[in-house]
Amino acid sequence: MRGSLRLFTWFGIPVHLHWSFGLIFLYALWIGYDNSLDLMGTLWLMGFFVALFGCVLLHEYGHALTARRYDVDTHDIILTPIGGIARLEKMPEKPSQEFVVAIAGPLVNVAIALLLLGVSALVFHEERWEFFKWFLNQQFSFSADEDTGQILEESGIQPSGLMFYLPVLVATNIGLVLFNLIPAFPMDGGRIFRSLMAMKWGRVRATQWAAWVGQAIAVLFIAYGLWSNAFTLALVGLFVFTTARSENAMVQLDDFLRRYKASDLLRPQFTRMHGNDWMQSAAALLQQGLERHFLVFDLDDQLIGMLEENSIVAAIKKNLLSQEIAQFTQKVEVVSPEESLQRVFFLIRQQGNPMIAVADESGILGVIDEAGLYHFMRMKK
Ligand SMILES: [Zn+2]
Repeated sequence: MRGSLRLFTWFGIPVHLHWSFGLIFLYALWIGYDNSLDLMGTLWLMGFFVALFGCVLLHEYGHALTARRYDVDTHDIILTPIGGIARLEKMPEKPSQEFVVAIAGPLVNVAIALLLLGVSALVFHEERWEFFKWFLNQQFSFSADEDTGQILEESGIQPSGLMFYLPVLVATNIGLVLFNLIPAFPMDGGRIFRSLMAMKWGRVRATQWAAWVGQAIAVLFIAYGLWSNAFTLALVGLFVFTTARSENAMVQLDDFLRRYKASDLLRPQFTRMHGNDWMQSAAALLQQGLERHFLVFDLDDQLIGMLEENSIVAAIKKNLLSQEIAQFTQKVEVVSPEESLQRVFFLIRQQGNPMIAVADESGILGVIDEAGLYHFMRMKK
């Protein structure tokens, strides 16, 4: 991926650090300066950020390794300042599998929080353990009547060192679980939400609903983020909004493409050109404007390829109209009339074939070109 640094490969999955991740360290420096931390304090803070993103990374591995159980590979994991992304080659389409893959990430953070809690209970005693419990309580009670700074001062605990950062890390992992479970598709909670709905109403309707809910929550994130200067939240909102929309569009398109086949949109009237015709005749046909690409046959009427508009235009510009068409002929994809529209769409849209031929045992039945495909999609949608 561009603009990112490859850190290492673990379990066969490359881990990339996005360039903007450097901002995290600048942010740590700024917090250190703002709170007049000494060098040691600032280093602890940076160490905390590294540990935090270690937890985010393990979360992403939770998704990637459960997806692997369903034969879904992961291209890579990218760490950015607003979180991690495990780029799975696809989401399992079975709702129960998507459910497991989506919940695996937050479950990793539950496990980390429990582990750290256990370790802390073992190593911290008496008033230190009291502080630990008090801190966590304070984080999630939403009744912050006591000032953390004041308590720290009274208990004599420095805002650095393991004593301070262990509870912070536990609290952050619990925070990660709660935040990720917000049902804002395509965040984890949103995927869980979609998979549950998909079990009842099918994937297409479930995605539509999940995307609407996701976009509504994303708008709240953006509004609240801008209002309270929490720009990270606003950025997450923006990301959720756009990916919810594009993922929904993809699922709806896929559903549409599955319903038709090549025979539904092939054009049976097309001009047959011959390899030994002159380019002059192709140029004349192109100028009539009815067809832009042509199938080319040999003298035995066997298909030898296709002549596309770009080649004809190039021949006109270079004054090559007295040459034979065969010299400009390119390979053409041939599909059966039973071929799904998905495959046709892939060949034309993704692979960039300007036209494909449709044929069965009896011979060529017709052609499908870019314009015909888009026209068909406009009419049916
Ligand atoms: Zn996740």
